[in-house]
Amino acid sequence: PIMSAPEARRLDTRYLSAEQVAGMVRRKGLAECIAGVASYLRQDFLRWNDFDKCARVATHSEVGVIELMPVSDARSYAFKYVNGHPSNHRYQLPTVMAFGVLADVETGTPELVSELTLTTAIRTAAMSAVAARALAREDVRSMALIGNGAQSEFQALAFHHLLGVEVFHLFDVDTAATRKLAANLERLGLAWRAFDSVGAAVRGCDIVTTATADKTNAAILTADIIEPGMHLNAVGGDCPGKTELHADVLRLGPVFCEFEPQSRIEGDLQQMPADFPVTELWQVLTGRIQGRSGAAQVTIFDSVGFALEDYSALRYMRDLALELGMGERLALIPALDDPKDLFGFIAAEASIAAASGAATLAAC
Ligand code: NAD
Repeated sequence: PIMSAPEARRLDTRYLSAEQVAGMVRRKGLAECIAGVASYLRQDFLRWNDFDKCARVATHSEVGVIELMPVSDARSYAFKYVNGHPSNHRYQLPTVMAFGVLADVETGTPELVSELTLTTAIRTAAMSAVAARALAREDVRSMALIGNGAQSEFQALAFHHLLGVEVFHLFDVDTAATRKLAANLERLGLAWRAFDSVGAAVRGCDIVTTATADKTNAAILTADIIEPGMHLNAVGGDCPGKTELHADVLRLGPVFCEFEPQSRIEGDLQQMPADFPVTELWQVLTGRIQGRSGAAQVTIFDSVGFALEDYSALRYMRDLALELGMGERLALIPALDDPKDLFGFIAAEASIAAASGAATLAAC
């Protein structure tokens, strides 16, 4: 049979700047966006085996890390560029900055180029909430937030709206960061109390979230301050040599992670022997493996951030941009009348060939 010629595909890349994503989030509502990304995340984690996955590629320096995070299914390919530089504040820069691409697998056309700094905070909070809904007790009301930096408001909103957390216990070694978080929680109408130690902040809470940034093997949480029934959402230990939980904390209850090969290298799990048991979260979300086995059990989500979360978040932002009519067309790839005549793209633009010839002669 003679195959019909494929239709010409449109070369259309949409660009979402940080300002545009902020505008989209303001129009839709931040809590709504976190809930939306959480639902996209769940959909994608439920079809875990459709994805081509790998641990992210990390380039380390003394002060930080720069990472590339690719993932794809049969339809879309996504990658994120992200850094982690805990001492960036001395340059007035955030610890985490990111951007990413969503591309069409059929042709390789980049469909979306987007900021991912703000989007990463949204997707990380959404992921934490999806994990906690599967692992924490149902009657949670209070959460300790240890580390009150860029991620913290997003975490608070996600746990308030998706899990019903009503009060937040705050602690940070930087009291200005805690004051900033407290002021933002006030604006959001969320209840908070500030504490002067991790132990005091954690006491009596149903959930403990750690989102600290320090390139060291820290022991932010020690086993003696963890109470029966708590769910631990450990977000900040996400790179070799950067952990938050004392190893004994990981022995208090079942540990769950995103993508095991990456988490063994980057998560708090890096402290444990290679055969230390861990369960990938998708197994719990699909109902193959039980999450929590009783109200008194301690559950631990050792989060590092996985490429599939950015795939879901990019998908959500693309759909939201279409819904709200946001974004700009980005002329990233040359539009060619004859796809084999790349040279013609230059030659057509104001006789560059002739001009460059003249420049060469003048240089002689
Ligand atoms: P940030 O620098 O804005 O905030 C980190 C806060 O932690 C700072 O206010 C700092 O003072 C505080 N801190 C440092 N050491 C502490 C300690 N010993 N006790 C209490 N507080 C302490 O960073 P951020 O953007 O909020 O990110 C927080 C962490 O989460 C980073 O390590 C980042 O790499 C990580 N992260 C993980 C994911 C993920 O998917 N798991 C996603 C985004 C960020």
